[in-house]
Amino acid sequence: MSSTCSVVIVGGGIGGVSTAAALRNRGFLGDLTIVDAGELPYDRPPLSKDYLAGRKSLDDIALQSPDWYDDQSITLRNNTTVAALRADSGTVELTTGEQLRADRVVLATGGQAVRPRLPGAGIDALHVLRSAEDADNLRKVLLPGARILVVGAGLIGAEVASTALHLGADVTLVDPLAEPLSAAIGRDAAEWLHSVHAANGITTITAGIDGFEKTTDGIRTYLRGEPHHFDAVVLGVGMTPNTQLAEWAGLAVDRGIIVSAGQLTSNPAVLAVGDPTRRTVDGAVRKRAEHWEAAQHDGARAAATILGLSLPAETAPWFWTDRHGLHVEAVGQMSAATTAVTRGAIGEPPFAVFGIRHGNVVSAAAVNDSNAVRAARRLIDRAIAVDCRQLGDPGVDLRKLLRA
Ligand SMILES: Cc1cc2nc3c(=O)[nH]c(=O)nc-3n(C[C@H](O)[C@H](O)[C@H](O)COP(=O)(O)OP(=O)(O)OC[C@H]3O[C@@H](n4cnc5c(N)ncnc54)[C@H](O)[C@@H]3O)c2cc1C
Repeated sequence: MSSTCSVVIVGGGIGGVSTAAALRNRGFLGDLTIVDAGELPYDRPPLSKDYLAGRKSLDDIALQSPDWYDDQSITLRNNTTVAALRADSGTVELTTGEQLRADRVVLATGGQAVRPRLPGAGIDALHVLRSAEDADNLRKVLLPGARILVVGAGLIGAEVASTALHLGADVTLVDPLAEPLSAAIGRDAAEWLHSVHAANGITTITAGIDGFEKTTDGIRTYLRGEPHHFDAVVLGVGMTPNTQLAEWAGLAVDRGIIVSAGQLTSNPAVLAVGDPTRRTVDGAVRKRAEHWEAAQHDGARAAATILGLSLPAETAPWFWTDRHGLHVEAVGQMSAATTAVTRGAIGEPPFAVFGIRHGNVVSAAAVNDSNAVRAARRLIDRAIAVDCRQLGDPGVDLRKLLRA
């Protein structure tokens, strides 16, 4: 067991709250504090889905109830911002000047939505989506008939476009790629998934954007050389990790806070989890994961490291996204596949596409078929060789392949 008596977690997103929960679940009895700049910590995935659509409230999407923090003896310092970290002494300094000292500090600071440096990028009617406040502001303009441009058809952009359409807005979705998400789910599935926007009534345009101009009644931008007019624009073009505290504290940062397999930063008194991190596994620094489950798993690993316990087993990375009533999941690494097996027919959900390498499943993407992805994850994690004919046969129960 470790000698850690106190932990301060900076950030109350899924990464920070999961770290705290895992510490308590695994027997940590010391002082535990979460400092978060916002109100009661909430979950972000619903911000582009049920929360934006008005089907869920902020209370509904709270990560934990207010009582949970008391029950777990966790001090929640919400509406409180950390201004600086002194890694060697384990001290975090709040914007109020107050200092909190702990044996271990966990940075769980998430990130911010990217606002590209384009002409007009500061116009009021340009929205981004990272926080509940962003979603509240955006919802006010997603009115029936409102002309909405969504820039970026990846995960968040596609979800916002879908929600805006179903709220009655007149939606245009622009992306420089003809098959957004193809790196994550494969080209054919991505092509079909993108076509679903148009099939539902969204105008999709494959183009880049050079900038925006404010007009008397909204925003003008040029798409493929043609002027287009909108009441509001939503930018869904990526995330910038919040690495400033780590940088100022002298920790190793390279487009993300560099952490070990157990979430330790370059200073062993400080760990980091979630969206701002890049894990080093088997000597290779991975890309930032930027998915909900990855942040949750980081929290479990950080807790194990702090407690001196063995790390949870590695599992293939997974994410989900929802649009137009379709539930999409992907697991593993599509780029590692040399061939693909389709189960069902692309475009006729439920279907799944498995990425194969040397007779093993290395990835899977599915629409309305969570079972296929769950099975694929086990096949990947256990490195079970598969019979591709059986894998592609919807009549074969995938659990049978797991017993192979
Ligand atoms: C709109 C939206 C939809 C998404 N949908 C999906 C999805 O469908 N599937 C999926 O897998 N992933 C999805 N994600 C991604 C997922 O939500 C993130 O990967 C996850 O929230 C990362 O958690 P985190 O704890 O690292 O960071 P965050 O959730 O960003 O939390 C960081 C917290 O740190 C706080 N903080 C930052 N700096 C300070 C400071 N100096 N002092 C105090 N507090 C600070 C912030 O206020 C914030 O509360 C979505 C993300 C968004 C924004």
